[in-house]
Amino acid sequence: MLSLGVASLRRAHAAGRAIGAFATYDLEQVQAVTKAAEITGAPVMLLAGSSQFRHADIRLLATAALVAAEEAEGEVGVHLDHSRDLAELRRCVEFGYTSVMYDGSHEPYEDNVAHTAEAVRIAHGHGAWVEGELCGLAGDEDVSTDVAPTGAMMTSPEQAADFVDRTGVDALAVSVGNVHGFSSSARLDLDRLDAVRKAVPVPLVLHGASGLPANDLDGAIRTGVAKINVNAELRRAYLEAVADVLPAALPGSELARVLRAGREAVRDHVVTAIRGFGWS
Ligand SMILES: [Zn+2]
Repeated sequence: MLSLGVASLRRAHAAGRAIGAFATYDLEQVQAVTKAAEITGAPVMLLAGSSQFRHADIRLLATAALVAAEEAEGEVGVHLDHSRDLAELRRCVEFGYTSVMYDGSHEPYEDNVAHTAEAVRIAHGHGAWVEGELCGLAGDEDVSTDVAPTGAMMTSPEQAADFVDRTGVDALAVSVGNVHGFSSSARLDLDRLDAVRKAVPVPLVLHGASGLPANDLDGAIRTGVAKINVNAELRRAYLEAVADVLPAALPGSELARVLRAGREAVRDHVVTAIRGFGWS
């Protein structure tokens, strides 16, 4: 069913778990994620946008994600990831998205506060909840290189408290050593994460979990991360599966076989990720 309120994040955190939010660029990934939700019985979030909208038409991808969520048995949210555009954000909550992220991390602090507060006003008017972000992460949403985390701004507990208080966001994405894409050197500052959690009354979100050591991930969930975004490792699983099956499928132009291989690889990867986030 299309439903995932911020109360679900609080429940997950109280149970020592985190809800997985999985990036979807196409129909195969949308179906892979909802299938994984069915297999595990865990609540999940489909991330549809904003970087995916540069690849797929906004209404088509949003509709696929919303219909897949409606038809799923369990709790499935549809979330607008990293939007910097209030018009796009408004469109998505009008479509029926359960939550949105306004990413003003590249803006001067006061602009981020003003725009995020406006995003909260728009989204709450449509029954959706809002994730905000203070400090941008190193790395790229869509292209994975080995990213060095050095130089990225870290979330300050004091500024996080001010930001949440003034914007009214329902969840906060943190920068505590995580990067977008894969990184062999990223390590989380769990003391800082703990200080941020104590400073703000809302669930915390971790982006850029791909490639983090399992200990760091477990520590982050224990410390207070209630939503984890997954993208880079799903793209890799998809592409590797397609590359594997392509030589056999090419002579007969078996497109469906290639797409199915990609879908199943993503599904299996999502199942493993969900279990790693505490849902067994
Ligand atoms: Zn992100």
